Amino acid sequence: MNKTIAVTKGDGIGVEIVDEALKVLDRVAEKFGHKFEYKYALIGGAAYDKYHTPLPEETLEICKSSDAVFLGAVGGDKWDSVEPDLRPEKGLLALRKGLGLYANLRPATIYEALKSASPLKDYIVEKGVDILVVRELIGGIYFGDRKTYVEDGVRTAYDVEKYNENEIKRISKMAFDSAMKRRKKVTLVDKANVLDSSKLWREVVKEMSKDYPEVELDFMYVDNASMQLIKNPSQFDVILTNNIFGDILSDESSQITGSIGMLPSASISEIGIHMYEPIHGSAPDIAGQDIANPLATILSAAMMLRYSFDLEEEAVAIENAVEKVLEEGIRTIDIKEPKGEYVKCSEIGTAVAERI
Ligand code: ATP
Ligand code: MG
Repeated sequence: MNKTIAVTKGDGIGVEIVDEALKVLDRVAEKFGHKFEYKYALIGGAAYDKYHTPLPEETLEICKSSDAVFLGAVGGDKWDSVEPDLRPEKGLLALRKGLGLYANLRPATIYEALKSASPLKDYIVEKGVDILVVRELIGGIYFGDRKTYVEDGVRTAYDVEKYNENEIKRISKMAFDSAMKRRKKVTLVDKANVLDSSKLWREVVKEMSKDYPEVELDFMYVDNASMQLIKNPSQFDVILTNNIFGDILSDESSQITGSIGMLPSASISEIGIHMYEPIHGSAPDIAGQDIANPLATILSAAMMLRYSFDLEEEAVAIENAVEKVLEEGIRTIDIKEPKGEYVKCSEIGTAVAERI
């Protein structure tokens, strides 16, 4: 199979972790007889430094003419003083919008070998955790009307959370369809006791659930959900939620699994060009030190093979190789209890590739 992949490494550890994933993809191509062509493009701070914009037209063009987009992470303190509209994160938001990436799928799975690294280890050893967060990605407060101004001599600002029923239907369908392939349960997380937008989510999701009689649907306020994720995470199968709650809850669910450096994501596009990236950010605090964990990015490559190219066997080969690496005690410093010394980021890609 011949595929073109737009590779946008971004900033901070983005550069280091994407290189590790490409080693693994190269090995898959060699072993299974595929050809992956990488088209490199700048995004975020790296693009700002060169072109004075966090999403150059050329980058969007490259992404739109590829079969999938593979991204590292954007941002960092280096660009803190850049004017708001040109900040690195704006580049990522614009790319999500430009590709119509309306659904962000974030599985949180615990690996056998990492159970003892979880802060909930006794619970996890007994019950396990396997959650899919389905986060709406191109609506809500991240894209709503916003303004900072002075009112009666007082500095004031607002951000608007707004959704229409079509936006809610589209992401809800993704959640129900995903649940059908899993344990058939959807939990809508919202704040319907306070927010009108949440009330509309409940109405629309309730209506849609009639098309999925096999799927159990329940509702949870986001404050309770954030507590339940720590108290009893195995109650969740698919968590369906809006853009901002999804951002927060997926970081939280990542910690249950041992490290934020373990969790991949897929963003599903309305024009068929899906994007894959780790759930974490550019981690400027550890960038350039060769200590970041690239497994979330490597597992994002597995998601790309599965969702964009329908290469299930190849995706499983990557996931199994990751499992082997962890079982052998090969770890970066974000994960507890290595066998022997911790290894560097730049050694992990090779270790995974060798086990495919
Ligand atoms: P964003 O706003 O882009 O989500 P963030 O401010 O939430 O970014 P992250 O970059 O996700 O921050 O990092 C949060 C913390 O987790 C940092 O302290 C970072 O060092 C750590 N971290 C993130 N990714 C990794 C990784 N791959 N390996 C090890 N540590 C990581
Ligand atoms: Mg974050």
